[in-house]
Amino acid sequence: MHNTLCDKYGFNTQQRKLRVAMMGLADSDHALIEFLHDKVIQPYGREIVEHFYTVLLSFPDVKAFLLKHGEIKSLQKTQLAYLQSYGILFDSTGYFEERLQVGRVHALIGLPLSYYQMAFRILDDLLFEYLIKAVSVDDDRFLALIKLISRLSALDMSLAIEVYYNKKVNDLATSIDALIDERQLLTSKIGLDELTHLASRGKVMDYLCNNLKKAQHGNYSFCAAMIDLDFFKSVNDRYGHLIGDQVLIGVAARMKSALRNDDVLGRYGGEEFLLVLPHADIHIAEKITLRICQSVNSEPFHIEHHVIPLTVSIGVTEWGEGDTDETLLARADHALYKAKNQGRNQVVVENKNEPARTLK
Ligand code: GH3
Ligand code: MG
Ligand code: MG
Repeated sequence: MHNTLCDKYGFNTQQRKLRVAMMGLADSDHALIEFLHDKVIQPYGREIVEHFYTVLLSFPDVKAFLLKHGEIKSLQKTQLAYLQSYGILFDSTGYFEERLQVGRVHALIGLPLSYYQMAFRILDDLLFEYLIKAVSVDDDRFLALIKLISRLSALDMSLAIEVYYNKKVNDLATSIDALIDERQLLTSKIGLDELTHLASRGKVMDYLCNNLKKAQHGNYSFCAAMIDLDFFKSVNDRYGHLIGDQVLIGVAARMKSALRNDDVLGRYGGEEFLLVLPHADIHIAEKITLRICQSVNSEPFHIEHHVIPLTVSIGVTEWGEGDTDETLLARADHALYKAKNQGRNQVVVENKNEPARTLK
């Protein structure tokens, strides 16, 4: 947590000095500021503020905005206080703190930045006009005072903009976070995996169990397959995790395009997928899993400027009498293990009470 706005915006002594110097202000200006207060702000402050509001309120939109946020009298009082501290100890923490606070309040109520700019413009005009009443144009200090006013206004304006900018960035970050949360919530609600947009593990397991129930009631066959990316770790190691994610998304999309409408492919974990093939005997399942294998290995993935070849290994099995989800998945897993051991990029079929076969 930041205790002060100066802390929050990083205005330590060095940064304050830098900002002041960037706006053209120097130590020697303190005396001139005192002079400005003596000759202009103290004697004419109230008049200036009244004038200031007359001009400001002549813009109907500005008037409507201001009246929504306060009584004119109290706004005038605030403006007078602002003017009375105008430039005094401009390089101090207190000055920065106060100016940042002004910006913060205005940013919070949503005052458009253009109104802010206009207010500074009007104030500068008025200060120039009243300056002429107090100091002769021939006086050496006249030009120095004109410069001083424009520099002080530039400083105050720059601090206000700082706060506005920061608030905008924070608001954007907050709304992006909210959108991400919302998307996560929605995808998990409808049972989608956040990265690949395939079914989530829960969703594909539910589907498996539904098929299992149907099969247990008789006269229904279905198959399940475990699919695992080959040497995926080396993709991450070589190109980085983010590129790895993109490959995973690409593989998921290709695999999905090899399926029938009712087949459900889910992300079982990391780079491992579970496929449930309803109304399918092993012959149909062989065709589909081979198609998946080929859809992945047929051509490399192009991610950014990288060309990344990839393959998958698949273990597939048909439901058999007495199978539970556990025995069915264990068999598919066993076939997958075999496919890996035999060199990857292949499909191994393993049915109940039958020896495993490799599809070529
Ligand atoms: P094998 O052919 O034996 O399966 O080798 P492999 O490298 O694919 O297998 P291993 O289990 O050693 O590594 C799997 C890797 O998958 C490690 C892990 O960092 C990566 N992985 C898992 N989930 C994700 C993910 O969501 N994104 C990325 N980029 N990588 C993932
Ligand atoms: Mg793997
Ligand atoms: Mg794995």
